[in-house]
Amino acid sequence: MYLKRLELKGFKSFPIKTDIIFKEGITSIVGPNGSGKSNISDAVRWVLGEQSIKSLRGDKLEDVIFAGTDTKKPMNYCEVALTIDNEDNKLELDFSEVTIKRRAYRNGESEFFLNNKSCRLKDIKEILLDTGIGKDGYSIIEQGKVDEILSNNPVNRRKVFDEACGISKFRYKKQEAERNLKNTKENLERINDIYVEIENQLKPLFSQQEKAKKYIDLSEKLKTIEVNSYVKEIEELERELNEITKHSDLLEKESSEVDKQKSLIEKSFNETNKEIEEIDESINKSQEYINTIKSVISQKDAQVNLINERIKNCKNEIERKSREISDIKEKLSNNKLFINELKEKQTKKEEK
Ligand code: ATP
Repeated sequence: MYLKRLELKGFKSFPIKTDIIFKEGITSIVGPNGSGKSNISDAVRWVLGEQSIKSLRGDKLEDVIFAGTDTKKPMNYCEVALTIDNEDNKLELDFSEVTIKRRAYRNGESEFFLNNKSCRLKDIKEILLDTGIGKDGYSIIEQGKVDEILSNNPVNRRKVFDEACGISKFRYKKQEAERNLKNTKENLERINDIYVEIENQLKPLFSQQEKAKKYIDLSEKLKTIEVNSYVKEIEELERELNEITKHSDLLEKESSEVDKQKSLIEKSFNETNKEIEEIDESINKSQEYINTIKSVISQKDAQVNLINERIKNCKNEIERKSREISDIKEKLSNNKLFINELKEKQTKKEEK
């Protein structure tokens, strides 16, 4: 088992995807101060699940994401993938190569992947136990760590030796088992409490049980009665339904008859309407004719009045002429008398 590859993208001073291939033997990374050498070991610790941002030399979570420079925009997320050769199956996984990947976003979200499958940090920790690779393992000896190992503090020294001897795994499992035991004890205590509580409730429950039995018995009887009643009701309803269906058939028949009559009536209605229209038209024509006759009558009336007026005038004229004739006749008879007188006078004169 050995470290094969480290891929960084957006992590601290590595905005562009950077692959570092570790061949067998020793690989050294050299560079001037501040060029990002320690950022590489930070990346290794971070991908292995480091949660303390201080150990990663930052103040806040997003300090591990590339913050941008004068020429490059800041990144929204960072990603580190660490590939381990597992040909010797030291990691208890059925893969010859294991890639642990961690991705983080500016909102603080962080995801872990094992061979590109999403997983929990717990899964990664468990796989790396006793391999010396974990974030607390002895595989990363940073500045100051040698002093820590050589210090007089036996607790710190113990941690390193435990990891190297493969005890950490059992210590972790022991802690897990102790945690489970504690939970189980708590659950047992809760069950005991519940048991006592239930025992107290048992007496009244017996009388309630009697009542419940009675209730069940009665409700069974009620159910039978109800079922019988429902059966009767259903029979009655079925009978009613049959009658209704018959009646409905009859009504449908009548309805189709009525429909026929309706269409006949509609036909005759249309015909009658047509006739009414024709009569209306002839009435209009007759009215027009009456109006013409009325106007002719009024014209004739005017003419009659005129003729009557003329007759009246003629009568007056006749009367006047008659009077003149009688005057002339009178004058004529007077003249005749006068002529006669004159004739007599003439004869007398002649005789004379
Ligand atoms: P030394 O040899 O002095 O320890 P070093 O080569 O280890 O230096 P690092 O400490 O790894 O360098 O890197 C420091 C550089 O990383 C600084 O230039 C810093 O600006 C840059 N850096 C750290 N975090 C970020 C970030 N989030 N975004 C951009 N650049 C960052």
